[in-house]
Amino acid sequence: MKRRPLIAGNWKMYKTVPETLAYIETFKPLVAGVEDRDIMLAPPFTSLDAAERALEGSNIALGAQNCHYADEGAFTGEISPRMLADIGVTYVILGHSERRHLFGESNELIRKKVESVLRYELIPILCIGETLEEREAGKTLSVLESQLKEGLAGFSAEDLKNLVIAYEPVWAIGTGKTATPEQAQEAHAFCRKILAEMFGEDFSERTRILYGGSVKPENVVGLMARPDIDGALVGGASLKPDSFAKIVNFGRME
Ligand code: PEP
Repeated sequence: MKRRPLIAGNWKMYKTVPETLAYIETFKPLVAGVEDRDIMLAPPFTSLDAAERALEGSNIALGAQNCHYADEGAFTGEISPRMLADIGVTYVILGHSERRHLFGESNELIRKKVESVLRYELIPILCIGETLEEREAGKTLSVLESQLKEGLAGFSAEDLKNLVIAYEPVWAIGTGKTATPEQAQEAHAFCRKILAEMFGEDFSERTRILYGGSVKPENVVGLMARPDIDGALVGGASLKPDSFAKIVNFGRME
């Protein structure tokens, strides 16, 4: 099945509001007219509202990098899915490896966040991936299986109809080391098999699985050529409009 590619940029903790607006002004014309793939930008929370206004009417969707699971409450420093929905966010990245490893997020907490995001009809991008230690110990597939099974426990295929998965090997994030297209394809095919076991073949065939980990204009074409790689979640190379636009336009500009 042909799945519509999604190229998503995760800015992490980079860019002020003026920097966000300058980026969007440069980026929009570089991807104008792109209709055969989805594009998403996830700026930091402080830039979301300004970005939403600047992106209005464009082909670029807005994403958030995280959220709390509650609608509101005494959770100092947190942002709720209700707040994100209110300002026009479409996607929410959940369980990014930096959240898992630097902020101690568990599969159970991430599952609660998935549930909260779905309540507001936001699209979860659930990130999974093994560390270098886990890969070297031969545990890659079992780590992916438990992240999927625990992060998506208790949902139906209907609940998760817009779900996006991002396979991001931790050893490839921000390190300049990309998984080879073969390594990524193997992990993606395995995730698709687990999704089929959990939610059925149709669901698994429809669900987009993005690759993330040092994606650049130079390696995106090789990755996207693999049958189970449906897009990219891009960190560092999404911070410059020209490099992110080259990734978005993969296969179109050569
Ligand atoms: C990410 O932050 O999700 C990511 C993949 O980062 P980078 O592209 O910089 O490796």
